[in-house]
Amino acid sequence: MNKAESLQVADHLELCGYQATNVLQEANLIVLNTCVVRQSAEGKVLGMLGYLKGMKSQKPDLSVLVTGCFVDSDIKQLEKRFPHVDLFFKPSDYVELFNWAEKKAIAVLENTAYTPPGRRVTASAFIPIVQGCNNFCSYCIVPYRRGGERSRPLDEIVCEVTGLVAHGTKEVILLGQNVNSYGHDLPTPSNLTELLTALNDMAGLARIRFLTNHPKDMSQQLVQTIASLDKVCRHINLPLQAGNDDVLKAMRRGYTAEQYRQLVHDIRRYIPDVALSTDVIVGFPDESDDQFKQTLTVIKEIRFDTVHVAAYSPRSGTIAARDYEDNIPPDVKKDRLNKVEEIQAKMSADINSRLTGKTVEVLVEGKKGGKWYGRTQSNKLVFFESANDCLGRLIDVTIVKTSPWALQA
Ligand code: SF4
Repeated sequence: MNKAESLQVADHLELCGYQATNVLQEANLIVLNTCVVRQSAEGKVLGMLGYLKGMKSQKPDLSVLVTGCFVDSDIKQLEKRFPHVDLFFKPSDYVELFNWAEKKAIAVLENTAYTPPGRRVTASAFIPIVQGCNNFCSYCIVPYRRGGERSRPLDEIVCEVTGLVAHGTKEVILLGQNVNSYGHDLPTPSNLTELLTALNDMAGLARIRFLTNHPKDMSQQLVQTIASLDKVCRHINLPLQAGNDDVLKAMRRGYTAEQYRQLVHDIRRYIPDVALSTDVIVGFPDESDDQFKQTLTVIKEIRFDTVHVAAYSPRSGTIAARDYEDNIPPDVKKDRLNKVEEIQAKMSADINSRLTGKTVEVLVEGKKGGKWYGRTQSNKLVFFESANDCLGRLIDVTIVKTSPWALQA
């Protein structure tokens, strides 16, 4: 979501006459898109704000804008705390950004013959479909910073994707904090099943992805729809968070470990070749060794393709920060995190090794270290060499070497 919003910020600024630079020191305008999902992320934001303060003292005409989840409802307080920031605007509040940038842009446009481009077109495009979240998982800051769920009308999304596909986009990644609740709040209610079906019919579009799901909201109907639509990628991210029911309850996740297992069973029944990824939090308050072991058991049983693991970090204002003491020592959290990563690396290595010798289709996203890279339908990262210009193309390659994290072809 943050990547998608950064690109939208860039698009809005280009419309106002700005051009991007890769060199921070060259910039006249810096927009810091922030994440505060964990304390370490918030620490980075504060560090960067300090750095930019120094930069601005050397270059007084530099403008600094801040958006993302660091921007809470008390903007006045933020302005007092960080007077060197020219504008704080809430995530995806592009009206605020546009108003600010438009005033500045008048001067830019008067001095250049610059032609503003439209929305940038990439082979794979992020499409936010629902903003905010109604769930209030006890550890999560997102609903407080991004507000309740707001879905975009289905027609508007189809129209945006049609425009992108006409200019060369081949894959869309539909985004939401919980894409499974897409559409319920629209004047004419809709759902993800309808949206996927509408997009699947679009000529020229090759792949559809969506992130992320909530196990309590993922319906049988959706699973069957994914199975029946040829363009919907066989990759599902299904956050587990914990494998113990008491921990899940304290997290306010709304499902038990058994219900999660059953859902995975159903998904695999309808989509046997599905690749599954998940998110796990270790060291939630009061999590005992035994409770943590139950998380490991679920991970081993299910055999995910990928596990994203994070150590619990209290976020001020959340239910967990209010009701529980952060009582798992940092070294225990680290140890649990390492255990998950260790076990998962072995499983990912094993799952990926089975692809050796297989031919897979890759959507090429770019070049790194002299090699082209892209992703398979199942979201595996693949590197390969070619003298041709492969950017944005769907190419069949044969896997020759694998690791837990990437494939060589
Ligand atoms: S569903 Fe996701 S975004 Fe919403 S509160 Fe829970 S963890 Fe946060």
